[in-house]
Amino acid sequence: MDELLRVEGLVKHYRVRRGWGGRGARVHAVDGVSFAIAPNETYALVGESGCGKSTTGFAVLRLIEPTAGRVWFRGRNVLALDPEGLRRMRREMQIVFQDPFGSLNPRLTVERTLEEPLLNHERLSAAERRERVAEMLEVVGLHPEHRRRFPHEFSGGQRQRIGIARALMLRPRLVVGDEPVSALDVSVRAQILNLIVKLQRRFGISLLFISHDLAVVRYVSHRVGVMYLGRIVETAPVRELYENPLHPYTRALLSAVPVPDPRRRRTRILLPGDVPSPIDPPPGCRFHPRCPEALAVCREEDPRPRRPADGRIVCCHLYGGSPPGETVSPAPEPGASPPTPEERRT
Ligand code: SF4
Repeated sequence: MDELLRVEGLVKHYRVRRGWGGRGARVHAVDGVSFAIAPNETYALVGESGCGKSTTGFAVLRLIEPTAGRVWFRGRNVLALDPEGLRRMRREMQIVFQDPFGSLNPRLTVERTLEEPLLNHERLSAAERRERVAEMLEVVGLHPEHRRRFPHEFSGGQRQRIGIARALMLRPRLVVGDEPVSALDVSVRAQILNLIVKLQRRFGISLLFISHDLAVVRYVSHRVGVMYLGRIVETAPVRELYENPLHPYTRALLSAVPVPDPRRRRTRILLPGDVPSPIDPPPGCRFHPRCPEALAVCREEDPRPRRPADGRIVCCHLYGGSPPGETVSPAPEPGASPPTPEERRT
């Protein structure tokens, strides 16, 4: 099976102090996350705020150091790389941040911002760098004249185009998109999503797309991992997940997504209570205090990942199946796109 990235048992815990002079505690931000991404594939991590999806993305890139687990990128153990090895690997793994303004240096022109990765990683003449910058500006839909401007002179959507251009300057193989459209106005969100899908196809990039928005995830991704309280509870190809969600948490999340067809009605599943604290995750299944289908065993036994159908993995006592060996589906054909809007409506 062709894989670009494999993450196994990724853990990130933070030590915190409870109250003034209180005892130390451990925040289980990410607690045993495993997934794989094929070349040309967009894999989305989706879940409520605080479920650990952004922490997972940062830990994969080693922007924060994981507590435990393994990350393999093109067969290399990312967590074992020394600083020079990490610097070279970053050339192939880039990130687009949520806040397009905060992620750009306000004192650098667009040209200087886009040149920076080239100066750090490639030996090009000034003329060659200018050419690459002009080419990338055109690719992301900005005007050549924009290169002399500063970030504050752009709208939010244009700034995110600059962020995407910067991430693509070195032609990476993997891009982590950390909520790349959630800070944008609704009116420009669709434009940036279309740009992301277009560039993912054009450059054959693998994308780890992190979002809390299920409608957005459906539009861009090939496969989806649903996270709850630091763990992936369900993984499935996008169409299967939206048409037939298996995990009770996925069903509740999807029941809240509006259906753009007045003839179809969805029964909203309201979950009781709040998401428990990641300092004291519940024993057994972490979702059991809120699960409308909880069994007695759910309070005591942590459900193991099972594969109830081809390409699907679910952590829930309601489902049997073999343990997942491989966690990645066949790589999409180069240029293969997520389902079209028409296909999504069927
Ligand atoms: Fe609900 Fe039990 Fe499944 Fe957890 S394991 S989601 S509590 S049915």
